[in-house]
Amino acid sequence: MADIIQLLPDSIANQIAAGEVVQRPSSIVKELLENAIDAGATEIQLILKDAGKTLIQVVDNGKGMSETDARMCFERHATSKIRNTEDLFSIQTMGFRGEALASIAAVAKVDLITRTADKDIAINVRVEGTKVTRQEACQGPLGTSISIKNLFYNVPARRKFLKSDPTEYKHALDEFNRIVLSYPEIKFTLYHNNNNIMSLSAGNLRQRIVSVLGKSINDKLVPVEVDTDNLILSGFIGKPEASKKSRGDQYLFVNKRFIKSNYINHAIKAAYEDLIASDHTPVYFLFLEIDPTSIDVNVHPTKQEIKFEEERLIYNYIKVAVRHALGQYNITPVLDFSR
Ligand code: ADP
Ligand code: MG
Repeated sequence: MADIIQLLPDSIANQIAAGEVVQRPSSIVKELLENAIDAGATEIQLILKDAGKTLIQVVDNGKGMSETDARMCFERHATSKIRNTEDLFSIQTMGFRGEALASIAAVAKVDLITRTADKDIAINVRVEGTKVTRQEACQGPLGTSISIKNLFYNVPARRKFLKSDPTEYKHALDEFNRIVLSYPEIKFTLYHNNNNIMSLSAGNLRQRIVSVLGKSINDKLVPVEVDTDNLILSGFIGKPEASKKSRGDQYLFVNKRFIKSNYINHAIKAAYEDLIASDHTPVYFLFLEIDPTSIDVNVHPTKQEIKFEEERLIYNYIKVAVRHALGQYNITPVLDFSR
């Protein structure tokens, strides 16, 4: 029988990989904002048109890319962030898989302008269908501007599955909020359909929470600060009266990365005991800092899931810390750690 196995061309391989990384505009928002943060930006703008379906642009004042890197960044598994297996287990950056830009370029038109500090002139690279269609010198500020246009223009089946603009916009805004909450020291601006939606000046976490969620949250925040056993937990939990029936304002960041964890959510809720109704969920903005070698964030391409080496220990640590914080504010009448 004749040989029938062939290697897929890069363009198809990238489109397949894109299925995991790029589900909708919000996935691109997350990847581009994370890249800007990894580039050391202190100021980041996010510009959306039609909930990101027509345009997602991120402009940062980070370190920029060299001419070669500005092409290389669109290759699959091309990254400046890890070099070997050891690095994979002690990740310090938001990105590391080197597949976001390759995946995005496989399903949208990309226009990149970038300049490094040692150059007077910027470089403009355009990519369509994983092919570089333009590479030219141009004027541009220090940093990177990357525009993603016409998402899924070449994958009609995926485009059809996009939800209405309000729904896609909500998802994009959720990603934006998660990132701006975890980096209050960075200035962010959000535009949608030429309207300035949010301008967030650099500040501390409390100020950032108030600018994102509104003034009314300010006197409902209880600080959390524990630093023991190689773990640091900090941030704020909401007073019981801030709890809600609907989920939404639960933010857990592990080493600054937003993580969805029903397990930890359960630990936090358990700490409130009967201070909140059983159908309510407490509001929280918690940052766990943990030795990167004791977690695995490489569980899923979107990196929103995590494996803890010592899951039970983390559960109890968080539960006790939250209960202690509530106790310090005299919110809980009994402080019983034995339960
Ligand atoms: P990863 O972030 O996992 O490395 P990406 O595909 O998101 O993979 O990006 C590939 C590379 O392109 C990054 O490692 C980085 O070197 C470079 N890069 C991407 N975005 C930016 C940016 N905004 N500023 C500077 N460099 C960037
Ligand atoms: Mg990245």
